[in-house]
Amino acid sequence: MLRADGVRKSFGENEVLKGIDLHIEQGEVVCLIGASGSGKSTLLRCLNLLEQVDDGDIWLDEREITDPRVDVDEVRRSIGIVFQAYNLFPHLDVLDNITLGPVKVLGRKRAEVRERALELLRRVGLEDRAGAFPDALSGGQQQRVALVRAMVMQPDVLLLDEITSALDPLLVGEVLDVIRDLRADGMTIVMATHEMSFAREVADRIVFMVDGQVEESGPPEQVFGSPQSPRTAEFLARHRG
Ligand code: ADP
Ligand code: MG
Repeated sequence: MLRADGVRKSFGENEVLKGIDLHIEQGEVVCLIGASGSGKSTLLRCLNLLEQVDDGDIWLDEREITDPRVDVDEVRRSIGIVFQAYNLFPHLDVLDNITLGPVKVLGRKRAEVRERALELLRRVGLEDRAGAFPDALSGGQQQRVALVRAMVMQPDVLLLDEITSALDPLLVGEVLDVIRDLRADGMTIVMATHEMSFAREVADRIVFMVDGQVEESGPPEQVFGSPQSPRTAEFLARHRG
């Protein structure tokens, strides 16, 4: 469904992605792990065209989205992304934060989008916070709203970049629960994460990145249970906690 072939990306002299091949199937949950600076965020940003690749190509279903003739905004609607720092609009309440995209970007009817937004808020346990402003919410609540805001666009794929990293440890679980729920629903997810036990539980596949390359990838039992590369083993030993 989403495929990167030989993706390269440099910032100045610094080559950050050195030929990434990544094939993601419909309904698959793929966790990107790796040290800070290994290129996880850059890869996610390339996948949704927030960064332009220098070489290689990216495909969404049958379409090459790195083709310069592609409508970037349209592609971004199909590929949702949520970042580490909750980027809700501070001057809009929860419901307006969620409905803004579908109403303004997709031209959907406000009443219809409200229904869908409220249903999604119910699913993440925040139906009673629809009128609240972001600064009245905990970090975990804000991230759940950010997930709902991505989901209301009905993307084909959801990219999640360390979405629990900035959270108080007590609030991580409530956000991970939402991801479990999305997975159970068959959502295709690519997530960069430091939550190794969660990755092990929820991922269909783990992709371990070192220095802009995929060092090892495979099912969690294999990567965590019997890593093929010494670098994977060393990384996991340090991060098992
Ligand atoms: P990770 O998410 O795995 O921590 P990143 O993709 O954020 O890794 O970063 C990989 C490398 O790319 C780092 O060396 C980082 O400094 C560099 N980098 C990322 N974004 C930019 C940018 N916009 N400009 C210059 N360098 C960048
Ligand atoms: Mg990152």
